[in-house]
Amino acid sequence: GAADIECDMLVLGAGPGGYSGAFRAADLGLRTVIVERYATLGGVCLNVGCIPSKALLHVAEVMDEAGHLGSTGVSFARPVVDVDALRKHKDSVIGKLTGGLAGMAKARKVDTVRGYGHFLDPNHVEVELTTGDGQEKTGEKKVIRFRQCIIAAGSSAVHLPFIPEDPRIVDSTGALELRFVPKKMLVIGGGIIGLEMATVYSSLGARIDVVEMLDGLMQGPDRDAAKVWEKQNAQRFDAVMLKTRTVAVEAREDGLYVSFEGDNAPQGPQRYDMILQSAGRAPNGNRISADKAGVIVGERGFIPVDAQMRTNVPHIFAIGDIVGQPMLAHKAVHEAHVAAEVAAGEKSSFDAAVIPGVAYTHPEVAWVGYTEAQAKAEGRKVETARFPWAASGRAIANGADYGFTKLIFDADTHRVIGGTIVGPSAGDMIGEVCLAIEMGADAVDIGKTIHPHPTLGETIGMAAEVAHGSCTDLP
Ligand code: FAD
Repeated sequence: GAADIECDMLVLGAGPGGYSGAFRAADLGLRTVIVERYATLGGVCLNVGCIPSKALLHVAEVMDEAGHLGSTGVSFARPVVDVDALRKHKDSVIGKLTGGLAGMAKARKVDTVRGYGHFLDPNHVEVELTTGDGQEKTGEKKVIRFRQCIIAAGSSAVHLPFIPEDPRIVDSTGALELRFVPKKMLVIGGGIIGLEMATVYSSLGARIDVVEMLDGLMQGPDRDAAKVWEKQNAQRFDAVMLKTRTVAVEAREDGLYVSFEGDNAPQGPQRYDMILQSAGRAPNGNRISADKAGVIVGERGFIPVDAQMRTNVPHIFAIGDIVGQPMLAHKAVHEAHVAAEVAAGEKSSFDAAVIPGVAYTHPEVAWVGYTEAQAKAEGRKVETARFPWAASGRAIANGADYGFTKLIFDADTHRVIGGTIVGPSAGDMIGEVCLAIEMGADAVDIGKTIHPHPTLGETIGMAAEVAHGSCTDLP
């Protein structure tokens, strides 16, 4: 049948991957349409992910810092939290950004079709139009014919099958709605998302238990970094139940009763006022009828792609959370640019040496490239240089002398291949290590670069000097 809309490029999903791909495609001259079920552009990251979580983490950090100033001779009264006003503040941060994106789309003449899209065949998507704040269907449909397509449909929070529907049980999206601050909260899953939300809620006054199946919280960075974070956060948690599983949840009027099994499981059900499910995210690959377009979807819902971000169907690309780990916004954006450029006929490919990871907790933990654990597992010969912040004037002045900066170098070339930073602003600093790795810098390059004093960032130069001293075959 005839299509309602024709375009060169259809982008399915308007998260950081989708809007970045659409904007680049439009800039390169392709007539581009975005299909998005929600009312605003920005996807998980802007609406219910990176940005709202950081808006709340910032407020929590200021509160925590103020509370710790006592030993400097300055003390504050206990903060008064107006949850409704805080929620409005967070929503206004989101509004500024999503409004900006809408303007950028308009300026590029990128049209948005608001609705739930699924493939009909390799050149058509049908959109069930949606309305309101959520994804309420209007009953109307539109068919879009496209020459090329970028699938950017992202991921969703995993919900454990035995957990009942209850307004007191939320995923990260529900937690960011900030409906109320519970007295006692359970966080299921000690990954970054769970720990960031635990940081926010505990700073706002909740008592928190965390349950994690693995033997440590915050998998990803080296254990020495996670340990520093743990020590700084010892007061934040009532119980950290490692190697323990949640096996049953009973919702009663007076509370949520949770049973656990495993090494650190408490006897009998425990009572909570709120439960956050943060046990991982699953790609949306099985929710878009990809098979009708002939696009192969892997077993767990990820869509396999090549270095040009093409699926097995050459004119259909896929990017972002839906193509695999790490599920991070900055990865999605870079993949999106590659897909759009290839679609426009440019010779691009995704060739990142490293993708950084950051836990925006208090303190922050940031890492990129090789960790010591990974080097050891692969039997790669490395040199590790660790600069403790107890030797940094700025860190001491800032009350952050517990942090450290660690660089990992290839033992033969002395080129930096990894870095881990723990302490305030670690996430802002790790970018320098990313650049150094991408440019093939060695210990001398970094150590001889003059960093401003006194800054936390100069600990990167100092760590390199530590390594430089240990490189016997260098001048
Ligand atoms: P998404 O952002 O998931 O966007 C996909 C879009 O597609 C959505 O808007 C969805 O509505 C739409 N969609 C899906 N299916 C359809 C369909 N059939 N029809 C129409 N529309 C559809 N990453 C970071 O890098 N830094 C962080 O600090 C960070 N913090 C996070 C905090 C939280 C609480 C969460 C949940 C995630 C966080 N992430 C963070 C991860 C980050 O949000 C994702 O990696 C990123 O949003 C992925 O972008 P994407 O474009 O692939 O998909």
